[in-house]
Parts: sequence; C-alpha cells; structure tokens
Amino acid sequence: MAEPQQPDVLPPTTPVADLPGVGPQRLKLLHRLGLVSVADLLRHYPLRYEQYAGATPIVELEALPKDAVGATRGTVEKVRWVGPQVPLRGRGNKGRFEATLQDDTGTLLLTWFNAAYLRDKLHPGQVLDVQGKVKSFQNYPQMVNPKWSVVEDGTPDPGKEGGLVPVYPATDGLPSAVIAKLIGDSLDAAVRGLEDPIPAELAEHHGMPKLADAFRTIHRPTHADDHKAARRRLAFNELLLLQLGIALKRAHVRHRLRAPELPFDDAIDQRIRQRFPFPMTGAQDRAVGEIAGDLQRPFPMNRLLHGDVGAGKTVVALYAMLMAVVAQKQAALMAPTELLAEQHFASIRRMLEGSDVRIELFTANQPGDRDVLRGGGIDIAVGTHALLSESVAFHDLAVAVVDEQHRFGVRQRAALRGENEDCPHTLVMTATPIPRTLSLTLFGDLDVSTLDELPPGRTPVTNRVVVPLQADEVYAYAATRVQRGEQAYVVVPTIDGEGASGQPLKSVNEHAALLAERFFAGHTVGVVHGRLKPEERQRVMDDFRAGGVDVLVATTVIEVGVDVPNATVMVIEHAERFGLAQLHQLRGRIGRGTNQRRPLCVFIAEPTTEDATKRLDAIASTNDGFKIAEHDLAIRGMGDFFGTRQAGAVPLRLARIPEDLDLLKLAQRDAEAMVGADPSLTDSKHALLRRVLMHQHGETLGLIDIG
Ligand code: ADP
Ligand code: MG
Repeated sequence: MAEPQQPDVLPPTTPVADLPGVGPQRLKLLHRLGLVSVADLLRHYPLRYEQYAGATPIVELEALPKDAVGATRGTVEKVRWVGPQVPLRGRGNKGRFEATLQDDTGTLLLTWFNAAYLRDKLHPGQVLDVQGKVKSFQNYPQMVNPKWSVVEDGTPDPGKEGGLVPVYPATDGLPSAVIAKLIGDSLDAAVRGLEDPIPAELAEHHGMPKLADAFRTIHRPTHADDHKAARRRLAFNELLLLQLGIALKRAHVRHRLRAPELPFDDAIDQRIRQRFPFPMTGAQDRAVGEIAGDLQRPFPMNRLLHGDVGAGKTVVALYAMLMAVVAQKQAALMAPTELLAEQHFASIRRMLEGSDVRIELFTANQPGDRDVLRGGGIDIAVGTHALLSESVAFHDLAVAVVDEQHRFGVRQRAALRGENEDCPHTLVMTATPIPRTLSLTLFGDLDVSTLDELPPGRTPVTNRVVVPLQADEVYAYAATRVQRGEQAYVVVPTIDGEGASGQPLKSVNEHAALLAERFFAGHTVGVVHGRLKPEERQRVMDDFRAGGVDVLVATTVIEVGVDVPNATVMVIEHAERFGLAQLHQLRGRIGRGTNQRRPLCVFIAEPTTEDATKRLDAIASTNDGFKIAEHDLAIRGMGDFFGTRQAGAVPLRLARIPEDLDLLKLAQRDAEAMVGADPSLTDSKHALLRRVLMHQHGETLGLIDIG
C-alpha cells in the first residue's frame, strides 16, 4: 500500500491533521496531548531515551551463546495450528501454534504450545518483534514460546536509528512508538520549514548547534551524548525568548510610562526615619535605598519586596508611602484580608501618632470616606484589595503598596498599573521568600528587594518532628507552657477531619474538645476555621490576642498574617499533609515577640511518601525561609512551586531552573544587549523574533500594548 507522500517542507503552522497517518481518532488523541501543529510536534520532546537492545539478523541468531536470549524482527510468512480445530471438551486448547518469520537473511521458526488463541492474532504479512531463547530445530533456528509484539504499521526499526529510542510523553491509545513514528516521518520536512528567530551569530558565538540540527538531534540522537548539546541549544532559545520579553517590558515601562518623580534628600530621609521606633536592619536600609532610588525617577517603580514573616516589610512600605506624603501626594496600602488591613492600619497609625498625616481605613466594616479620598483629604488609604475597585478614586495616587502575603496577584498588579500611561509607583510585598534563581525568571519584569535579615532580638523557633505515638507527651508539655501564661496554636489539616484519600484525620471540633478535657483543663480552648461566620472568627481571634483564649485549635486560616506575640507554642497535626511553604508560614505565627521563652513548633507526622519525608526534614533543618524555598523548589520543581497558574505563565519546556542557571545568565546578557541596541525590536532583522515573542509571551508578560 502506497503511503501518502510527505511534502518536502512542512511549515510549523501545518495542522497535525494534515499529516499522513492521522485520522480523526488519532487527531483527538494528539489534541489531548496539546499537539495541534507541526511546531507543537517538534516541541514534543522525548522524556528520555532507551538503549535499544538491537535486533539480530536471523542468520546470526544461531551464533548466540547457548541459552542466550535473542531478539529479532521479521515478517510472518506462514502460520499453522497443530491440534484440534474445535477445542475438545476437557482437553482445552492442547496443541501448538507455529509460524515462520523471515527477514533478509533467513527464516526463524516460532512455536507456542497450547496457544490456540494465536490463531486470531498472528497472520502472514505481519511484522513481528520477537524475543526468546534460540534453539535449533531441523537446521532452522527456533524460538519456543517467545515474547512477541506486532510492529505498528511501518514503525521504523529502532535498531537502525543508532540504538537510542526516544520515549515520548504519551496517552492511552497513542503510545510513544506511534508518536515517534509521526515525529520521525515529519521531522526532516518540519525542520526545513523552520526559521530560527534568533540571529545565527548568537548561537554560533556560544558554540551551540544550529536550531534545525538541534531539533533533528533531540528527536533522533545518533549516540548517547549528542542530545545534550541539542537540549542545551533548545533550552537556550526558550530562555532567551523569555528574557527578551522581560527586557522589552522593562524598556516599555522606561520609555512609555510616566509616574511622579518624588523629591528626596537627607532631610526627608531623616524626617521619615524619625517615625520608626527602632533603627532599620541592614536589609531594610538596602530595600529603602532601592525604593527611594526608584521613586525619584519619572517612570513607575515596579518592585517586589520579599522577606520572611517578621522581617519587617511594613516599615519599608511605610517609608515608600511617606515619600509620597512628603510630596503632598497620596499613597495606598492594600491587604488580602480585612484582618490584615486592620492590623496594618493599627500599626501604621501607631507609628504616625502625633504627625499630621491623614490616614484612613477602607474595609467592608469601615467603608471610609471616598469623597474625602477623591478630594485629596486623605494621605494614606489602608484597605483590602477593594481599594482597587473602579468606584474608588484617588486625588493623586503616587505610591501603591500591595501586601500579598504569600499569594501573588499578577492580575491585581496589572489592574493597578492600568492602561494609563500615568501610573503610580507600585510595591508588591510577599512573605514567600523567592529563590533568587526563580525571581530572575518568573519576576524578571519586577525589580526585587530582599529582606534576608530579621530584626534583632528574635529568639529562633525550636523545631521537633515526632510520630503520633508521642502526641500525648507533646500536649502534656504544651500544657506546662500554657500553665506559665504562654499561648499555643494547634493546627489540623481539615475542618471535619476528612482527608482527600478518605482516611480519618483529626477534626477541629473533636480535637479541641479532647484537648480541653485531657490536657488543658482549667484553660480556655478556642476554635477557628474557614466555615465560621466572619464575626465569630473575629471574636475568637480577638479573644486569643487579648489572652482570653489560651489554646487555639485551627485550620490553616491562621496562616495569613495573625500576629499574637504571646503565642509561643505550635503543634501541627498530620504535618505530612501540608506543603513545605505552608508549614513555614504556619510556623511564622510563633516567635514574633522578643525576649520570650524559646518558641517551639512540633510537627506530628507519619510520612508515607519520600517527598513528605523530605519536607519534614527540610522544615526541621532550618528556620530560614530562603533555604526552605530552595528546598521546596528542589522537591516540587519549578512547575509546582507557585501552583499551576503561575507555572503556566512561564512557558519553559526544556529549560530547568536552577539546573540551567548558567544558560539563564547567558540569555539574560544577550537579551539586554539586543534590547539595548534595539529597544522595541523594530529593526527589520528582528522582525521574525518580534513576531515570535508576541505570539509566545505577549499575553503573559503584558506585551500586547507595546508598539
Ligand atoms: P512582616 O510584614 O515582614 O512580616 P512586620 O513589618 O509586621 O513584618 O514586622 C514584624 C515586627 O518586627 C513588627 O512588630 C515590627 O514593628 C518589628 N520590626 C520591624 N523592623 C524592625 C527593626 N528594624 N527593629 C526592630 N523591630 C522591627
Ligand atoms: Mg506583614
């Protein structure tokens, strides 16, 4: 049967539906794998390679040592069933099935005993791979009961492709071998249809193979190591495109957007610092210096401030806001919850006591005066993200601070900046320490300030990982601490005690009742979780803060921003079920006061997976959020580090961070040089590059508005 001819050149946009061998059924499966065009197929990279054992020509089979297992491929010539045609009662399918298999060199006899079912399976003309011990029978090589598989229509003999068989991500009904054939058949034509968006000199300069060769090699490596150079080249392209997108974005902000230049000098610096009841840490000083530098420029600051819980982000934010106030403009601070907005409001108001800075809270409970805000009668507005809603108008907003805690609101950042060319300076704060390697890739369009130093006088948390059998001991000890006037948190993973996999966990209410009865008699045990009415939750939290509740049994609702300095003990039940970042955030709730008894965090855990064990080892080994973040990245990989949404925003298929850090730096340097010379990539030699960039990163990097 003549195969439909493959054209000589396949443009990357060619739908896979147009390829020979792709019918409606296969097309559905290809689409399920996200493979729509030839370009997708080219970028469907092998997961790994398998060394093919090698098909031995039939004539050489007999030369194998005695009892060696041989493997060969040939075409079925004849088949024969020797036995009853209709299975006889009680005699089952006794008999034997015989076939002869031929290749260019000889004939092999195949015999399966009592295998009547093969009558429906094996037919002359089929191509088979067989594997088994080779014997000799009447001068023919023979295999008895060999393993066999029918070779899919025309699948290339991997033995002839240099011995490395690519293994592709596959799906039910579309095995790797079929994908390999599809890619193998279209590879040459597809590669001919490719244009490298990146100037050829660049890769050449780095000693990397040409793009076309890299694609050829990664799908069809000829020896063990050459796919590595190919992978490096393709990963470089990914990283360079990403870094170019980022560099373009920065150039855009600098050249097109306007923000107020805020005045700054030593006197202003002194005036602001006077407000703070303590000297800044070195890290705070650095961050403030970076921010003051940004705010004096005529284009918007776009900065991320990250640092562990308790690192002192609030005063840094306040510093930035006060620079706006000094310039007689407005500032806003937005928090993810009402509770946090209230906490910020209270601590900022305390620091501004006696000054004439006008500050107001905007929450659902306390709606604030929007008219005054619009008229410019409020200097600093503190609120939830509701402050971003369209109905809230500022008179002259110069600095906007978004406290994300440990979520990232890419959308909110975009909303703040708006479509306007006049925008406020923005500072985003997060308590998720971001490994430097990731901040370079993910948040490359942001400048980053890092608070990697805690204010002095903190007592580090002591960590203990124990098994459930030791729980009684743990609670008995916690009770002695509570007896001395300290407070404790007990954290459980779910409200009703139902785990995802159905096994029973501790439920909040039952666990609280049990603890109150057995360990904390005479003390007050409170409960908070996400299903309580907000007022009820608020009341319990207020009681805990005021010391009326001694032990707080809670789900992870306490994770976000709760600040109770007298709480020094935390027990986390089923700790194996929490993510590493989450455990670290939870632990951040204790050890917030100074000169206190050593804060203690106990993780009660029964890890059943390797990852869970790694998480617990990591959490116990350090209190440093940056180290925790590096561990987390290593355990989960970049894709999962920030959850799927953010991972989707980073279209890296081959490049791996931190493994490819050197490539990333190379790409960054090249990208900066290219955009430095051609800030909007309007040079005609960059036309294709520009198109590819818009296509790949336009949306995620917000490049749509460029140009
Ligand atoms: P974050 O928001 O980074 O978690 P906060 O801004 O809430 O941390 O600060 C945590 C605590 O540390 C607050 O009580 C704050 O007053 C205090 N603090 C911040 N900076 C310093 C400093 N330089 N010296 C002493 N205490 C500080
Ligand atoms: Mg904070």
